Order: sequence, then structure tokens, then C-alpha cells
Amino acid sequence: MIKILEKNVADKIAAGEVIERPVSIIKELIENSIDAGSTDITVEIRRGGKEYIRVTDNGSGIAPSDAQTAFLRHATSKISAVSDLSTLTTLGFRGEALASIAAVTRTEMVTRTADEGAGSRIVIHGGEIVSSSLTGAPLGTTMIVSDLFYNTPARAKFLKSEAAESGIIIDLVSRIALTRTDIRFRLISNGNSIFATNGSSDLKSAVISVYKEREYKDLVHFDRKEGKVRIYGLISKPSLTRANKRSQYFYVNGRVVKSNIIEKGLYSGYKERIFEGRHPVAFIFIETDPRDLDVNIHPNKKEVRFNNETEIIACVSEVVRETLQEKQAVSDIDQAVKFAEKQSEYHKTNQIDHEPEEKHTQVDIKTFLSTKREEQAKIPEIEHPDIVSEREVVSEEPEIKIKSPSHIPFDFDEITVGQILFGTYITAWDDDSFYLIDQHAAHERVNYEKFVNAYMASDKASQLLLMPFSFDVPLEMTQDDSEWTCLLEKMGFAVEKFGENTYLVREIPQFIEISEAEEFLKVFTDNFYENTRLNLKPVIDKLITKACKSSIKAHDMISHEEALSLMTQLKNCINPFSCPHGRPTVVRFSITDIEKLFNRIV
Ligand code: ADP
Ligand code: MG
Repeated sequence: MIKILEKNVADKIAAGEVIERPVSIIKELIENSIDAGSTDITVEIRRGGKEYIRVTDNGSGIAPSDAQTAFLRHATSKISAVSDLSTLTTLGFRGEALASIAAVTRTEMVTRTADEGAGSRIVIHGGEIVSSSLTGAPLGTTMIVSDLFYNTPARAKFLKSEAAESGIIIDLVSRIALTRTDIRFRLISNGNSIFATNGSSDLKSAVISVYKEREYKDLVHFDRKEGKVRIYGLISKPSLTRANKRSQYFYVNGRVVKSNIIEKGLYSGYKERIFEGRHPVAFIFIETDPRDLDVNIHPNKKEVRFNNETEIIACVSEVVRETLQEKQAVSDIDQAVKFAEKQSEYHKTNQIDHEPEEKHTQVDIKTFLSTKREEQAKIPEIEHPDIVSEREVVSEEPEIKIKSPSHIPFDFDEITVGQILFGTYITAWDDDSFYLIDQHAAHERVNYEKFVNAYMASDKASQLLLMPFSFDVPLEMTQDDSEWTCLLEKMGFAVEKFGENTYLVREIPQFIEISEAEEFLKVFTDNFYENTRLNLKPVIDKLITKACKSSIKAHDMISHEEALSLMTQLKNCINPFSCPHGRPTVVRFSITDIEKLFNRIV
């Protein structure tokens, strides 16, 4: 039997297409507020928007006679004929958003236009009007949307954690705030102000409001149009540089992107003006014909591709170079002194870190990383400190295992590799011994060292998140947050402060999965708070887990060639004879052991 779906069933289904998560609601509501000519927009969320969203604007408002109509599907004031489509200047026009939002939430709208004395208030639960009345109200519109997906629990399951959802929201609202600096934006999460811009059309003040970096007041503004391309933004004077590229934000047509091309232009513009290894602060906005962009890019990378790459590089480079030549870009002595002071402070702190540790079950990561680097720089080919295994993390002084060839149980080049026993143990022998090599443990060691090496590499490989997430820390940790945010940065996280005790994560290290990152930061912050110093344990644990997961298991059938290749890789390990959990990878039976078993000797 074919049936026509009841209206609210159809609405629920359609809503799923527009409303995936809290941020989709916020995007639609902000776009409506912008379309209504608002100059002041406040967004408030609770529990990542899953429980509560409020968007208040000072726009045109909706007349009482239209208030209910606004919630009907295909109800829009923005077009009435097909011909209107070509002259459209608004962000929305399909007339679907409010109907969709109201279908899967409890929605309340309070609105008033300038012409009417009274405003209206409408409450809709799951698409059904619960109440509709006249009310006193300020000019503009407030939409309160609560209990997202309360009537479609199956959809609610697809929502991410509160932290993840609020991270995505913070990212969206800050992005809109930076591209619409003419509008005053305020974002509040769980009662804390995340940021507030002043709507003065001044990009620099918007950037400072959003990122809360005092040093940003010295950024230099530029705005050029070269043919079809407009490039504008803020860059630092050569006196303000950073140790990494994390303070560089590129926007193309209003979206945050990663782009080697923009980066190339930026660095070419700074050429010979900053030291090798230092990085400028930059907010670069490019507006260009969408047809000049390749939108077929990997969804997780946010990498943008320009059709006219060389032109973009040249444009950015030139704009940057010219901007730096302007008088305002000359660094003042004040800044130079501050910079020098900071450097010496930094060295002092580092010296303290080099002082011997007290009896301590965990290794401080700063000490660990710096000694590691020193050791590598000093004596790379004579001795190789053992790569950290879990046992050493808990021992007081990491011992150096492989000092001379005499300590090596066997010479990899001398052994013959035979069959694999029980699908798990590789057999091997040389002149005076027989060996069993646990294929899982061996592979785990190989992978573990690979991951540790990648981790130790000074420029931490990071993955840019398509959807950043936020996390809260105890207020105590916000006082001097550079101490722990620097450590996270060294690991490959990109962390920014938003709001009182809220931080946004845009990049995570390669060595952890996106799904593990939140938990990792929780462990990290809990540990930091309790020990007031970071230990390496969460990192090592993650590397071990990752090594374990990515290794062949016992009973996985591997070919003789694979066994040989595994032995070669094991040979190249710094500590080939135990797995990261501390179990042996190789067991040796000497000829004497075997002779004893047969009572040939006693
Ligand atoms: P669309 O934006 O595609 O027109 P929506 O469902 O988002 O459709 O909104 C329906 C209509 O409700 C809009 O066309 C507009 O007239 C009105 N409206 C919605 N939000 C606001 C607002 N914040 N201020 C004024 N009018 C609004
Ligand atoms: Mg709309």
C-alpha cells in the first residue's frame, strides 16, 4: 500500500538532510540573522549545543502575521520567482532551515520588527506548534533551540562528544566573525564567554578578540586587489616570529584552508627578513573566483588547490614584501628588547630542567626531549642510547644497552632464517645457537621504534583536523598556560585558547588517532594538574598501543620473504631484543643448552 507520509514524518526525514549536528543549526540561524541585516549577533550554547542553542540578533525581525509562516517548509521571504535566483544576495533562500530545525528540536522564537509595537513568541516541539502569542520583545529575533534530536534518538547517536561538538561550533563562529568583522559577534559556551568581537570592521581587533594574543596588536594590515584576486590580512613585523607555523591562518573564500602555495608566497615575501627556522604570524584572506579553485580535494585535509598557483604565490609574496617595506612594519626597539628578555628567560627555565631529577618514577618530557636531542647531536655514531622502552620510563636512569658488539646476543648477518613454527615463531640458527623469534613481538619492536623516531623528529608530523574539538582545563591551568601548551605543541598538537578555560584543538600528532585525541588530552591535563609537571607516560603508552595494533599477530601467516624482511628491520632497531612491553623478541638456545637437554653433557 502506498501512503502519503504524515507531515511531521516527512519533516523529520527532510530535517536530517539539513540538520546533522548542532553546528548545522547554528550556521543556519547565523545566516538568517545576517540576512536580516543584523549588526549584533550572540550565540550561546550549552553542552556542545546538544542541549541548548540560542542565537539572538538585532535584525529586521519577523512581523506577527509572518511568524508562523516562517516555519513552513519552502517558506522564504527571499525569493518568490525563479528569476529572483539570479539576483540573490542572501545566504539562504530555500526556506527549509526553520522547518527542519523545528522538526527535530524544541524551538522557541521571539521576534519583533521596528514597525510593530508587539513582538511574537512561538513555541514548536517536534514540528508541532505548542503555543503562539503576542509578547513584548526587543527589536530583532531570538531563536532558542533545545533538546536536539529528542524525537529522533537514532540520529542523536551520531552526535560527537560535547567537546567535539563545541569545538566545531567555536571554529565556525570564529571563522564567520573574522570574515564579517562589520558584525559584532559574541559566543558563550556553558556560561563562559568564548569571545566577543566589536563589529568595528577592523580585522586586527577582531583577530585580537578571537585569539586573545596581546602581541597581535603589532600586526600589520594589508589589502590589495590584483586582477580577480583580492588578498588582505595581517602579518607580523619581522621582530615578531614564532618557533612554528601554528600562528598562520589562511582563508580562501571564507574557509580555513591549508595551502603550500599561500605559505610559499608568505615565506618568499619574508625572505631575508627573518631568521632561518623562525616563522611569521600571518592571517591571510584570499578572495577569488570559485572557478579558479579545485574543490575536489581530500575531505580530511582542507587543502586548497588553485588553478593559477604561480600567480597566487607571486601575489602573496609581493603583497607581503611591500607591506614589510612600509614604515609601520619597522620593528621598534621596545619589541626587540622584549624578545631578547624572553629568550633569556627561556634559557633559564631550560637550565632548571636540566638539573638532575629526583627519584621519580616518570621522566619529564622536556628533559627527555632536550637530553635526547643533545645525545643525538653529540655522539650519534659511537653509542646510541636505547630507545625508551616502558621499563626505562619507570626506571630512574635509562641504561645504555648496546655499548659494544660483544653485548649483542647474535649477529643478524650470520644467522640463517628457517621455517615458522606454529605460525608464530620464526626459527633461525648460526654456528653455535638456535633461535626462536616471536613474530608479533619483533614486529611490535620495529613499529614502536619507527613511531618513536617519527615522534622525536623535531618537526612533529601533525594532522589538521577537519573538525576541531575543544577541551576544558581546570582554571588553575589557565594562569600560565604556555608551559603546558608548549609541551603539547612539541608533541604535534595545535592548541589555541578560547574563552576562560576552553581550548580548541586544530591539529593532532600523527601518532594518535582522531578518536583517541580527546581522551589523550584528558589524561594529559589530569596528569599535569596532579603532578604539576608532565610525564611522558601517556605518549609512550599511545606509541606502544599503536605499535601493537599495527603489528602482525601470532598465527598470522607470513611468507619466508616477509620473515627475512622482518629480521632485517629488527636488525636496524636500537633495542631489537625486547618488545616495547618488555617481553623478549628472541629466545636463544645455545649448543650447550641443547646438548644438556640430550644428556650429552652434564
Ligand atoms: P531561508 O533563509 O532560506 O529563507 P529559513 O527557513 O532559514 O529560510 O527562514 C525562513 C524565513 O524566516 C526567512 O526567509 C526570513 O524571512 C525569516 N527569518 C528567519 N530567521 C530570521 C531572522 N533571524 N530575522 C528575520 N527574519 C528571519
Ligand atoms: Mg535561512
